[in-house]
Amino acid sequence: MQDKMITVTCPKCGIKITNPVSWFKKPGACCPGCQLRLSTERFKRAIEAAEQSA
Ligand SMILES: [Zn+2]
Repeated sequence: MQDKMITVTCPKCGIKITNPVSWFKKPGACCPGCQLRLSTERFKRAIEAAEQSA
């Protein structure tokens, strides 16, 4: 189990969200800026990209 900190830029409002990977995978989690669900396809791609570059 790894829970590294990653920074993901919201694809909708553009704010940077820094949190552990587990927070981004939490069911029902959403962007603190615009409430976009992290489970949306665009967000999932941004999270994956951040994970790979972390
Ligand atoms: Zn947002």
